[in-house]
Amino acid sequence: MQSGKMRKQGLSGKRHTGHAGSHAQRPVTELDVRAGVFRQPVMQTPVLVLNASYEPINICGARRALVLVLKGVARTEEEQGQILHAARMRVAMPSVIRLLEYRRIPHQTRALSRKNILLRDRNSCQYCSVVLTAGELTLDHVVPRSRGGLSTWENLVACCHNCNRRKGNQMLHELTEMRLLREPRPFSLHTSRHIMRMIGSADAAWRKYLYFEATETEEPAA
Ligand SMILES: [Zn+2]
Repeated sequence: MQSGKMRKQGLSGKRHTGHAGSHAQRPVTELDVRAGVFRQPVMQTPVLVLNASYEPINICGARRALVLVLKGVARTEEEQGQILHAARMRVAMPSVIRLLEYRRIPHQTRALSRKNILLRDRNSCQYCSVVLTAGELTLDHVVPRSRGGLSTWENLVACCHNCNRRKGNQMLHELTEMRLLREPRPFSLHTSRHIMRMIGSADAAWRKYLYFEATETEEPAA
């Protein structure tokens, strides 16, 4: 792509006079990444995505992060330390990227689903705290459906089959030996951030961005 090369060199104001011909490096483009010129497994590693305000908002794969950076939508804040090479191209892998334009994030971003309830409750029975696989857990209506309980974030919890049987159609206040580990809440950004913090605990470069919420207001503006 001769025209692309010329355009990029024109923009940067640099000309590679030292290495002519096929050995010259050329800038990596979004299209190169999309086309899969870099196939290394590191392309799958998680990258922390920050809003323009430095607030952590997501985690994505390194390939997607690189596309966002090369598109000019985001910039790399931290690098992984690995440089990927392909024919005449090299690129530093990001570990943390930041969006250049602020994006409004809805207070509640996740759909109410069995999968997301289990994710919120971290696959633990909310009555006896046992951790099980998704297949071994059921969902419990805290206020039973037969008593008018709705299928909402606040009324659905992960539950083991034993506890589910024990609780039956009773209300919690009728059962002295059963109580909820924690108040069920919508799967909000706060919860996503908690998960991000756990994933990121292995990556020292992420840590300084993951405690953003100390200055954040949890409640949506009235
Ligand atoms: Zn249980």
